[in-house]
Amino acid sequence: MSDVEVTPGTQAALRQANQQRVIEALRAGGTLTQAELARATGLSAASVSNIVRDLRERGTVSVRQTSSHGRRARGVTLVRPPGAVVGISFSPDRISVALGDGRGTVLARETIAYDVAVGPERGVRRAVWLTETLLGRARAERSMVTAVGVSLPAPVDTTTGEILGVSCLPRWDGYRPSEGLSERIGLPVVVENDANLCALEETRAGVGRGRKHVIYLCLSHGVGAGIIVSGRLLRGAGGTAGEIGHMGLDERGQVCRCGNRGCLETVAGAPYILDMLPRYGDAGAPATVTEMVEAAAVWDPGARRIIAEAGAALGRATAILANAVNPELVIVGGELAAAGELLLEPMRRSMELETLSTALDNLSIVQAELGEEAALRGALRMASSVTEEPE
Ligand SMILES: [Zn+2]
Repeated sequence: MSDVEVTPGTQAALRQANQQRVIEALRAGGTLTQAELARATGLSAASVSNIVRDLRERGTVSVRQTSSHGRRARGVTLVRPPGAVVGISFSPDRISVALGDGRGTVLARETIAYDVAVGPERGVRRAVWLTETLLGRARAERSMVTAVGVSLPAPVDTTTGEILGVSCLPRWDGYRPSEGLSERIGLPVVVENDANLCALEETRAGVGRGRKHVIYLCLSHGVGAGIIVSGRLLRGAGGTAGEIGHMGLDERGQVCRCGNRGCLETVAGAPYILDMLPRYGDAGAPATVTEMVEAAAVWDPGARRIIAEAGAALGRATAILANAVNPELVIVGGELAAAGELLLEPMRRSMELETLSTALDNLSIVQAELGEEAALRGALRMASSVTEEPE
């Protein structure tokens, strides 16, 4: 039977439906040869071959040589039944929840404005409520969901799961969000720092695709970095590698919330840079980094100056990291990254002054591609990896 001819607009949907037929056939039949798959699904041999190749690249099926009726054949087996996963992303001012698959594909999502810094117990309750709302609206059974991945704008101790030290969520210090969430949701929960998840997702599916030595900078309320060396996330002994926000850059600078003076965050973190903006009388100053970036793009010389100084400071801090880990790509993400060249150009200039010229060879600095979706998609992917490991 030949495949139906379709217009390009419906091709993606058809391909997905055909993939689903192959997965269903494997679920029912165990290991099947490609010829058996073609018979079971009614698809052409060429289509089955293409679908199997895609599923194999994605890790959904494994393929090995076998024999069928005395002839060599390729046996196809489902590696694991593809289950749904939930991703939860806490930002300082909102919670986003997504239902998706292990490839980071978002099937449904919900976002609410919420002051996450208020405290962990209430934040967790809100996230659980939002998850239940999402599953209800998507008509998804909780039993379909295999695990939950969580992104938080704070360092996470990889051994205890505790939120650590100075973050933009001081009341979360010492809290174990995986325990609080798992108790209420009844599913395995894994938690990771947002910059780490964004670094992983941008190198898997964003502007850093295929790159192995990458620094991702997350510029939001706080400033953090996700560092990828030889294709692997650098977590460090306790999971706090990349916490660059409190790198001291100016001994006469502003006092930081951590108690030190002149930290990177005091010139690049959202609350500090918004405070620096000149007042404009009745019109009022921009209230968010996004508004500030928009004002700078149009005309605002004060906003431009503050963004340029943030860029220069980020360049100095990144130069220190770059001298140590020799990345090929620096990806700049978070709200402030939307300033584009207004931020990146001064950043490059200060890196040139402070970086070993050998470390700068083959190094580019670019804006992130996936925006705030990166953390949520990274959380989905992390959740799906939980199901791969036997508990
Ligand atoms: Zn500090």
